[in-house]
Amino acid sequence: MGKPRIIYMDHAATTYTHPEVVNAMLPYYTEHFGNPSSIYTIARNSKKVIEAARVQVAKALGGDAEEIYFTSGGSESDNWAIKGVAFANRKRGNHIITTKIEHHAVLHTCQFLEKEGFRITYLPVDQYGLVDPAELEKAITDQTILISIMYANNEIGTIEPIAELGAIARKHKVYFHTDAVQAIGNVPIDVKVQNIDLLSLSAHKFYGPKGVGALYIKKGVQIENLIHGGGQEHKRRAGTENIAGIVGLGKAIERATADIVGHSVKIKALRDRLLKGVIEKIPDIRINGHPERRLPGNFNVSFEFIEGESMLLWLDDAGICGSTGSACTSGSLEPSHVMLAIGLPPEVAHGSLRLTLGDANTEQDIDTVLEVLPKVVSRLRDMSPLYQKAVKNGEYNV
Ligand SMILES: *Cc1c(COP(=O)(O)O)cnc(C)c1O
Repeated sequence: MGKPRIIYMDHAATTYTHPEVVNAMLPYYTEHFGNPSSIYTIARNSKKVIEAARVQVAKALGGDAEEIYFTSGGSESDNWAIKGVAFANRKRGNHIITTKIEHHAVLHTCQFLEKEGFRITYLPVDQYGLVDPAELEKAITDQTILISIMYANNEIGTIEPIAELGAIARKHKVYFHTDAVQAIGNVPIDVKVQNIDLLSLSAHKFYGPKGVGALYIKKGVQIENLIHGGGQEHKRRAGTENIAGIVGLGKAIERATADIVGHSVKIKALRDRLLKGVIEKIPDIRINGHPERRLPGNFNVSFEFIEGESMLLWLDDAGICGSTGSACTSGSLEPSHVMLAIGLPPEVAHGSLRLTLGDANTEQDIDTVLEVLPKVVSRLRDMSPLYQKAVKNGEYNV
């Protein structure tokens, strides 16, 4: 028997780069490689394509091209937004509000700022992962300078009420940043309508290349630079531009936002087929995340009494790529902070499986997973003394 076909279901971790995007990028490595800061013709061309990509990103977000700054990806954009606003507005206050379920690019940046004398409020979320707008409003003080709340969660897929949260920030004259890395191409975004002052995005989450992203900074926002050096990006972000990457980002965001509804209907149908099959075939499961307000491709389910990482290894054997909120092999016994924040007991968090669907997936893929996964779960449960005991005690009726 040959190797199984790879069934890639980890699109929240990264996507493949679409061939159209790769083709758009290639000439900027070999032919139009001029440094945009130089004055000869090929350099001027590099400058032109960067500005064209800026327009493509602005269009996708509803902002102006001058409000788009290219970065090395989602992590840099998050760092810049949060540290940049914190340091530039220190005299106005030292309080920042975020949530317990942010990506580490936000959480660890906030933890760094705590050491620098800032006070951070980490808002809780409900059992579905939703932030309560009333809780946000209550947390705002006259010292609050920034609110940073993710658009959609990378683990459980929950989509936050961004327009409502943005309106509260605006009402209290506090800057509002959103990490929209998972949202691009999945939900429509309009920075003006949604009162967003700063927005992070990353190309490799929507079929663009890795190592390139952008930060939207609304005109007039007071923000310090993060990367010092040359005068690139309107003197706000130094470093010779990643021209090919920027061209790829522009092309990828144009593709990803051309038909958001069509794309999400298709992906959601696959996800729902998967979820329905799993509910039918596997007992004693818990669905994580919000039933409706969630990313179309996100499937996150806990299988009690088994280890997420053992599940992943068995799935990998069948060519299926997924991820888990368990982190035993990484040396820490702590399950993911998102799983704990939605109130899962550690043993349930450890048994979680995240499959994130995307353009690479077909109905055939879903059916293969529905054949393999029930076998994997029952084999692991057969090996689990805790599960056996629970069944014997009548806590479960398999
Ligand atoms: C992937 C991801 C990031 C980090 O983006 P990189 O481009 O990999 O640095 C930040 N936030 C969220 C929500 C993500 O999913």
